[in-house]
Amino acid sequence: MADNMKLSDDKRKEFDEYYKKNRDKLPACPTCQTNNDVIPTARGKPSTELLLYAEEGNVKLSGCTQSYNGWCKKCEKFI
Ligand SMILES: [Zn+2]
Repeated sequence: MADNMKLSDDKRKEFDEYYKKNRDKLPACPTCQTNNDVIPTARGKPSTELLLYAEEGNVKLSGCTQSYNGWCKKCEKFI
């Protein structure tokens, strides 16, 4: 990723609204037993903006073939 690529505040806000409205519905991690460290996953080929958003740790990219309910940042695994 080039250093001059930066996520705009507007775009981040848009993603925040889209992903965080479903935050309460994220499943608990089977290992931690909580969803405190669980973030949403995004399936498919990400846009550059989504890639930057994911690099900030807000969402986990899961690739094109698999679909998951969430990603536990603490355990570093899909759930
Ligand atoms: Zn966990």
